[in-house]
Amino acid sequence: MRTTATHCPYCSLQCGMHLTAGDRPATLVPADFPTNRGGLCSKGWSATELLDHPERLLRPLVRAVPGDRTSPLVETTWDDALDLVVAAIRRTQADHGRDAVGCFGGGSLTNEQAYAFGKFARVALRTSAIDYNGRFCMSSAAGAANRAFGLDRGLPFPLSDLAEADVVVLVGSNPADTMPPAMQWFDAGRERGAQHIVVDPRRTATARNAALHLQPLPGTDLALANGLLHIALAEGLVDEEYVGERTTGVEEVRAGVAAYWPDRVERLTGVPVADQRRTVFALARAEKAIVLTARGAEQHRSGTDTAQAWINLALALGLPGRPGSGWGTVTGQGNGQGGREHGQKADQLPGYRSLADPAARAQVAAVWGIDPDDLPRPGRSAYELLDGLGTPGGVRALLVLASNVAVSAPDARRVMSRLADLDFLVVSDFFLSETAQLADVVLPSAMWAEEDGTMTNLEGRVIRRRRALAPPEGVRDDLQLLAELADRLGVSGFSGDAETVFEELRRASAGGAADYSGISYRRIDEEQGIFWPCPSDDHPGTPRLFTERFAHPDGRARFVRVEHVPAHEETDRDFPYVLTTGRVLAQYQSGTQTRRSRSLQLVAPLPRAELHPDLARRHGIGPDDVVELTTRRGTARFAAAVTDAIRPDVVFAPFHWGGGSSANALTDAGALDPTSKMPPFKTCAVAVARIGPP
Ligand code: SF4
Repeated sequence: MRTTATHCPYCSLQCGMHLTAGDRPATLVPADFPTNRGGLCSKGWSATELLDHPERLLRPLVRAVPGDRTSPLVETTWDDALDLVVAAIRRTQADHGRDAVGCFGGGSLTNEQAYAFGKFARVALRTSAIDYNGRFCMSSAAGAANRAFGLDRGLPFPLSDLAEADVVVLVGSNPADTMPPAMQWFDAGRERGAQHIVVDPRRTATARNAALHLQPLPGTDLALANGLLHIALAEGLVDEEYVGERTTGVEEVRAGVAAYWPDRVERLTGVPVADQRRTVFALARAEKAIVLTARGAEQHRSGTDTAQAWINLALALGLPGRPGSGWGTVTGQGNGQGGREHGQKADQLPGYRSLADPAARAQVAAVWGIDPDDLPRPGRSAYELLDGLGTPGGVRALLVLASNVAVSAPDARRVMSRLADLDFLVVSDFFLSETAQLADVVLPSAMWAEEDGTMTNLEGRVIRRRRALAPPEGVRDDLQLLAELADRLGVSGFSGDAETVFEELRRASAGGAADYSGISYRRIDEEQGIFWPCPSDDHPGTPRLFTERFAHPDGRARFVRVEHVPAHEETDRDFPYVLTTGRVLAQYQSGTQTRRSRSLQLVAPLPRAELHPDLARRHGIGPDDVVELTTRRGTARFAAAVTDAIRPDVVFAPFHWGGGSSANALTDAGALDPTSKMPPFKTCAVAVARIGPP
């Protein structure tokens, strides 16, 4: 038996743990790592259950009748499966051009895998068609941070700053359910007398412990932030010295928020004027204050502008760049941060650089040993890529790693029908996910405890995922998969060894915003992770950004005028309520893993839709009744959770399930955020009907 220090496979907190394993199975104990300090949530505690799960994929699968997806999936050898994949790539590109083969990645891939996947698309396939599921997660916050600060790192400060802040405002963020060990930082602040203010249409576990809970209508957070800034300006609470020295653009924003007077904001959002004023005065009077946004505020058609509105408020109060203060976004997926830095995004190269930037193209092309002119141009964003599958000019053969878009994409049944239109679909996963069930070839991938690599957590801390046990025979790491595919395509320069890939990633990221060139496996081991940017071997890393300058060339942050726009789909007689979606404590993302965990299923076996008692009474719905939710996209059924913790005009559904309880079969993809291309997951119009007892 051997004990290995590694990290939880799930969320962006990346709690440290020690795994003890022989050949298999493994047991774990939490580690005293700086993010979790000995804490784990139920998901982390149960993570080893899945390593030997009976449904684990252990051999490649192909269709019994090639090309007929109604025929059963049957086991085959890796050689035969890879031959099929390579033949499909060659055939598709010969018939329809390079961009007819696409790649779709995920925010749970290691940095090395994400980097290799981006390189594989651009160098081995020479396709522009690559994006990843983080587009559905962090892209709006990233767009706002890049615009305002010139740099996007989820938290531009270490988690420990949360304990130092006297006031923390959490907007659409529920860490008590999504990452419980992080609450120790909030609790430490509260023990010192810090106030927490939660902005959420639901009285979540986080909101229940807050000093103040604001319950706006989903999709109105931007109006609320503009309203708070209106009050700050009217009451002389703005830090004029900071604004004058460290920012630009305030005058235009000042003019814009003039129209967001408190009564109007109360009408738009439902947040009483008194609570608006309490929030602004608490923030402005605090010596140290932090504003955090998350998916509740960001997954909208105006998600980038909404995050910007809260950044505008934070800038006006002089918060960003001061220790214990600032604005940040709470990343969701385990490597949601690193996943968007290394080139699996449609418009990016490693080092968080633009694929459209000639200097970045030249540098990365040199590392990859190709001509910069051979690098494809930026491709389509995730939903646009998925919606074009099988259509003229769209992708006809798709390789999916670490993503279950049949459950996690908006308007999921439409996406499933697009997947069915493909000429060829390849999915690499641990289990037969809803997406894998549609594939021509399914490749069994290694799980977290069986692979080496690095992850970058929500603070921008680069950490080591260490291999604690060998994968089962017949299972391969995605790095090996990409290296073997490249080799069969006749393209050299790909390695299946994580540290070798990381050394190349370091060179490719040098000089970029996310500069990893000074980070090595050895240093991570010695220093409990290193915060990027870290541009040289003797650089200590950068836990806190923007202390002296922001990342724009003039060193100043940008105020940007932003305006409230109504939801793409407003309520009406047929669809009278607002549907919002989110996570529950014992499930994670599309549920491919957590729905198979016996201990987590005991806690959250059923998808439950939250309804206010007034709404339930109106429709004759009792506790635990089955209810049917209907939107313009389709229907889905849930057990009713009747609770006064939600607004009477809002219905909440968790998105971890597929099939007949797919929340994303209901969500809307009709209006993408113009900057981030984020779909509006958090707002659409819904009708509710009682089906009957369970
Ligand atoms: Fe894993 Fe996140 Fe839970 Fe920590 S908080 S144990 S990283 S799921």
